[in-house]
Amino acid sequence: MHKDLYPVKPEIAKNAWIDESKYKEMYEQSIKNPEEFWAKQAERLEWYSKWNKVKETQFTKPVSIKWYLGGKLNVSYNCIDRHLKERGDKVAFIWEPDNPEAAVRKITYKELHKEVCKLANILKDMGVKKGDFVTIYMPMIPEATFAMLACARIGAVHSVIFGGFAPDSIADRIADCESKFVITADAGYRGSKVIQLKENIDKAIVKSDNVKKVLVVKYANTKVEMKAGRDLWYHEEVQKVSDQCEPEKMDAEDPLFILYTSGSTGKPKGVMHTTGGYLVFVSMTHQYVFDYHDNDIYWCTADVGWVTGHSYIVYGPLANGATSLIFEGVPTYPTPSRFWEVIDKHQVSIFYSSPTALRSLMREGDQFVKNTSRKSLRVLGSVGEPINPEAWAWYHDVVGDGRCPIVDTWWQTETGGILISPLPGAIGQKPGSATKPFFGVQPKLLTLEGKEVQGAGDGVLVLADSWPGQMRTVYRNHSRFEDTYFSNYPGYYFTGDGCRRDEDGYYWITGRVDDVINVSGHRIGTAEIESALVANHKVAEAAVVGYPHDIKGQGIYAFVTLKAGELPSDEVRKELVQTVRKEIGPIATPDLIQWAPRLPKTRSGKIMRRILRKIAENQPDQLGDTTTLSEPGVVQELVDNRMNK
Ligand code: ATP
Ligand code: MG
Repeated sequence: MHKDLYPVKPEIAKNAWIDESKYKEMYEQSIKNPEEFWAKQAERLEWYSKWNKVKETQFTKPVSIKWYLGGKLNVSYNCIDRHLKERGDKVAFIWEPDNPEAAVRKITYKELHKEVCKLANILKDMGVKKGDFVTIYMPMIPEATFAMLACARIGAVHSVIFGGFAPDSIADRIADCESKFVITADAGYRGSKVIQLKENIDKAIVKSDNVKKVLVVKYANTKVEMKAGRDLWYHEEVQKVSDQCEPEKMDAEDPLFILYTSGSTGKPKGVMHTTGGYLVFVSMTHQYVFDYHDNDIYWCTADVGWVTGHSYIVYGPLANGATSLIFEGVPTYPTPSRFWEVIDKHQVSIFYSSPTALRSLMREGDQFVKNTSRKSLRVLGSVGEPINPEAWAWYHDVVGDGRCPIVDTWWQTETGGILISPLPGAIGQKPGSATKPFFGVQPKLLTLEGKEVQGAGDGVLVLADSWPGQMRTVYRNHSRFEDTYFSNYPGYYFTGDGCRRDEDGYYWITGRVDDVINVSGHRIGTAEIESALVANHKVAEAAVVGYPHDIKGQGIYAFVTLKAGELPSDEVRKELVQTVRKEIGPIATPDLIQWAPRLPKTRSGKIMRRILRKIAENQPDQLGDTTTLSEPGVVQELVDNRMNK
């Protein structure tokens, strides 16, 4: 692993909320005296009435997690109304459409207030009551965020389903929470494609007949069928309602939303988040991790269908009164310069994206970046997977021109917000390391047998105590919640990720625990071997899994995607083996390298190693749940060209 340290840049530290000594001081307080620490942090929100207890959490069965007990607040009020006096005319959302020629929309806090109130009133007219579930299946247009905030305003629980999911997956998710209400649009765009959202909803509803009302935003003007008595046009309903709507007084522990995980390791889980602790935590992490200041233009490229979109496009930024950019498109359409052009167009200063997007752009070559200015950028962020040091260096040197710190943020749908990450003014970065824990977060490494690893070493990543943004349960399946996260290592929250801590106390996520390969008794993380492969300049992306090996127990099977213009050959294969031996050592030598023009990914862009493992183990008939795959065809391609036939 790269040992280079990129120290905190003095010009960044000077104006940052948190510098090195402040981080140490606050971190210590947060661990020593969590109640006092989190009580103070909660003051960043407006409460109708304060809590009577800050924290009541238990990680042993029966597991129970509660924060700010008895406190009353409303999320939509905190994200909108609270800002009206001082920031009413400030832009809350900039919307950049898929087509760069189409008109941009800018929505001020005042306008947002009206839109959200109107939609909240429509929902009430549809019969939505406090505590009801509302499914949101939308393109990346501002109405998607209005829908979320409108639910929060009236105390309905939203369940956002990523717009790329097909009818069967939608039906499963609607059925799981027995949602009676759906908000959708006629259709949406992704790159050059049109996605027929309403049609997908119609098909899904046939399978889950609990849906009573469907509200449809007319956006792409495609032809859709409207079922009388069930389907309503948003543009018609909006004429009939008032633009004022009193926010509902919610309990801190009332549910805010449920959301399904991306399904990298198996069937997605319905993760439940609540009101008070979640909002405190996403507001605080958004401010400190991105070192957000009032005049920043902030852009997170995630989809609102993922937790990153919930916490860091909508709730965190709006709680802080930020200007948050919503992008409808994809990184490579119409050209691989698109991200950087959008940054210049809107003068984005904080940019938050994913390793999968960065690798796809890196493989196209630097010229697409260098023909843009990017002078407005100050902080860069990454989330979703370990970022390979090679991609990190490219992000830092080429995209950020060496000026911008990179915050490699480790977290999960379950954690609600960022748990391990550099803070731009406080923690020096090492490429590939998520660095240090955020306030209140107590990472520990355990051996497989559950013994704590002290100092530098490798282990299973667990968390010793709760933080306010933690999920509360798997919806209607609390025992699955307890079994998945609290039974392997009693008393701890089990993350499912493997991790290494170095001599400086930096954390390095080595991949999913299930993905660790055991070669002749040595445990090797997949992330490490993949990063070694990507260190070769011919490689765009790599995914490594184990397969049964007569002598070593497990062999190392690498799927490798070459950069545009590179041709596969046995020579290149040999070269890659050499690269890995040099970067890590002979123990990590790949036994088999298969060329993979494309890799199987979740719809959020994460490599699905679980499926690759089945291919490498020659069990293509046991792939498990594949509904979260973005391009199912990729799998057959790889099965057909398997190396160990
Ligand atoms: P499922 O839980 O359904 O298998 P998933 O784990 O991919 O899907 P998410 O909650 O979207 O669902 O992803 C969280 C996981 O993503 C983490 O547990 C970790 O493995 C990975 N991850 C996220 N950010 C980082 C990061 N900065 N560095 C390394 N890994 C990361
Ligand atoms: Mg997970």
